[in-house]
Amino acid sequence: MSDKTILYVEDNEFNLKMVRQLLARTAYRLIEATDGEMGVATALKEVPGLILMDIQLPKMSGLDATRRLRADPKTATIPIIVITSFALSGDDQKAKDAGATAYMAKPYSPRELLQMIRNLLPEQ
Ligand SMILES: [Mg+2]
Repeated sequence: MSDKTILYVEDNEFNLKMVRQLLARTAYRLIEATDGEMGVATALKEVPGLILMDIQLPKMSGLDATRRLRADPKTATIPIIVITSFALSGDDQKAKDAGATAYMAKPYSPRELLQMIRNLLPEQ
């Protein structure tokens, strides 16, 4: 059972540390992948309750990874929050088109991200 497990697909160590700290005192269990291919493979293996997806990733972009996960019945309905630095470049629409459930533009407040997570995957 991994319903309170959150997969964070992110190649930036600073952002990984921030989310580790954010989730450390919650009921969520955090697992990580550091490139798009690993993200897809980990999601298919672990079937987490929610996925945080960076867009700019090595090997496979977060948008392509999101499309792959939406196309697989195992992961098609998992909430995916796509995170990007580029708030003004149309990435919000690209994220929606790829199948993202929600979109968070950097810089964001950790509290704001945690609220979005809790809305999509209740902690209790
Ligand atoms: Mg990145």
